[in-house]
Amino acid sequence: MSGRLAVVGIGPGDPALLNEQAKSALADADALYGYRAYLDRVPARQGQSRHASDNRQETARAAAALAHAARGANVAVVTGGDPGVFAMAAAVCEEIEAGPPALRALDVTVIPGITAMLALAARVGAPLGHDFCALSLSDNLKSWEVIERRLDAAASGGFVIALYNPASRARPLQLRRAFERLARHLPGSTLVIFGRAVSRPDERISITTLAEAGAEDADMSTVIIVGSAETRLIDRPGRAPLVYSPRKQTVPAGSGGSSRRGGA
Ligand code: SAH
Repeated sequence: MSGRLAVVGIGPGDPALLNEQAKSALADADALYGYRAYLDRVPARQGQSRHASDNRQETARAAAALAHAARGANVAVVTGGDPGVFAMAAAVCEEIEAGPPALRALDVTVIPGITAMLALAARVGAPLGHDFCALSLSDNLKSWEVIERRLDAAASGGFVIALYNPASRARPLQLRRAFERLARHLPGSTLVIFGRAVSRPDERISITTLAEAGAEDADMSTVIIVGSAETRLIDRPGRAPLVYSPRKQTVPAGSGGSSRRGGA
C-alpha cells in the first residue's frame, strides 16, 4: 500500500517554532486534516485539499484521515504543539488498532512539535528543571475521580505539574476544584504560572501563587504550571522574574510536596 499518514505537530503558535520536518510534511501532503484553528495556521498550497473539523471530533478525524491515506494519498494530520501530547497521534493509533487490518500496512510517521508546557516554561525560566508531570483536566475521556487521584499523587510526590485543558465553557468549576485539591498538599506560597496563547501575538503570561491563583484566569488556550516545593522565583530589576526548579533536590526526602518552603 502506498498511502502515507504523517501526524504533524506545528508547535504552540509562532511560525518560527515550526520545525523543518513539520514544514516539509505539510508542504508534501496531498490532504490536510485537523481542527480548523490549527489548519488556519498552515499556509495554503495549491492542489492540497483541507478537511477541517471541530476540536472534539478526534476519532472521526483520525478515521477519515486514515481512510484517505489507505486510498493511496499522502495525508497530514495537523495538531497544535506536539501530536503525542493530549492530541491526534494517540487517536490515530487507536483507530489503527481498532480498524481494518489494512491500516497497519500504512506508512505512519509522527513529527514532534514544541508542546505548550515547554513553550511556557521557556518563557519564564526553567520551572520544569526538576521532576515534573503533565495532566489534562478534561474529563471527556476519563473520570473526575481519576483526575483528583492523579493530582493528589503528583502533588504529594513533589512533581511540578503542567495542567492542560484547564477550563472550558462546559466545565467552569474544574480548575477551581483542582487548585483546591492541590492546596491539600502544597503551601499557598507554591508558584503557579499561567500561560495563555503562548508564543502567539495575544500571549499573556502571569506568575502567581496557589493561594492567589484564580480559576477565571484560564481558558482553553491556557496551560498552567504549578510549581513544587523546590520551585523558586528570582526577582530582577526592570526585568520579568525568572521562575525555576533547581536540578538538585533541596527538600528533604519524604516531605514530598508538602514542605512549607515556598519560592515567592
Ligand atoms: N498537543 C497540544 C496540546 C493539546 S490539548 C500541545 O502539545 O501543546 C489543548 C491544550 O493545550 C489547551 O487547552 C491548552 O492547555 C494547551 N495549549 C496548546 N497550545 C497552547 C498555547 N500556545 N498556549 C497555552 N496553552 C496551550
